[in-house]
Amino acid sequence: ATPISTMIGVGKAAEQGVLVRSGAALQRASHLTTLVVDKTGTLTEGKPRVTDTDILAGDAATALGLALTLERGSEHPLAAALVNHAEAGGATPAAIRDFESVTGQGVRAYTVDGERLLLGSARLLEQAGVDLAPAASQAQALEAQARTLVYLARADAPIALFGVSDPLRSDALDAVARLQADGMKVVMLTGDNHHTAAAIARQTGITEFESGMAPEEKHAFIERLQQEGEVVGMVGDGINDAPALARADVGFAIGQGTDIAIESAGMTLMRGSLHGVASAIEISRATLANIK
Ligand code: ADP
Ligand code: MG
Repeated sequence: ATPISTMIGVGKAAEQGVLVRSGAALQRASHLTTLVVDKTGTLTEGKPRVTDTDILAGDAATALGLALTLERGSEHPLAAALVNHAEAGGATPAAIRDFESVTGQGVRAYTVDGERLLLGSARLLEQAGVDLAPAASQAQALEAQARTLVYLARADAPIALFGVSDPLRSDALDAVARLQADGMKVVMLTGDNHHTAAAIARQTGITEFESGMAPEEKHAFIERLQQEGEVVGMVGDGINDAPALARADVGFAIGQGTDIAIESAGMTLMRGSLHGVASAIEISRATLANIK
């Protein structure tokens, strides 16, 4: 496209709340064939709320105190939900040391007595050798309700399980339908569990999805689509989405997302809506059609 028509396209995108980093990004948007979308914070509002607390060992006050202290160190949307929940329950902070955040999985630390603490996904705990069998029936009940599960383990035993619910963005179903009508294949990738992923996919009209994905797996998934000849857009909000956003032919960051996601993407969706992606693609196509 000519510099002038591209500039006009960038301006039109801005009117729709889409900030375009470069003319090249706008031009590439017209060639997209597949759109990969993250779940948490992208299809959902990213305002999760703790709905259930199952204490598996010890007392609730201890579990809430540990959850409060561990999640204060994390900037994941789930962390805010657990901090709010623990504070509302009157939790008092616990003493911990060697805090470490495990991107896309949760957090790790130690009690002052040297007991290992893990808070996060089933995968985080399982990989550390924690047996989740004591939580199996509670987990099944929460998964059936499409809850996101957050496990807390101390000294290699699960001591609490939290169920978290994150409402769908009100326009997610609509926007996915518009993208599909524009000819895009829409695929959801998430670090969350299979049941929750399946429920969100069903509610948004997405037929293809992958769950339990680590950040580098999201990146590899996009690379494979590209090797198969797809031109791939990626929409995400989190630190865990940054490698995939950078790898995609066009990355779209949610404007309310983390700085690193925004820095890794060619476009930023200021209204946080997937309609912005459809607008950008439609504007890009019109811009290229004009100069032919
Ligand atoms: P998504 O890919 O849907 O945006 P993430 O990759 O950010 O999800 O997170 C994947 C999973 O890792 C979450 O569903 C949760 O189980 C776990 N997790 C990640 N960070 C945290 C945290 N700070 N506290 C609790 N759980 C976490
Ligand atoms: Mg996310």
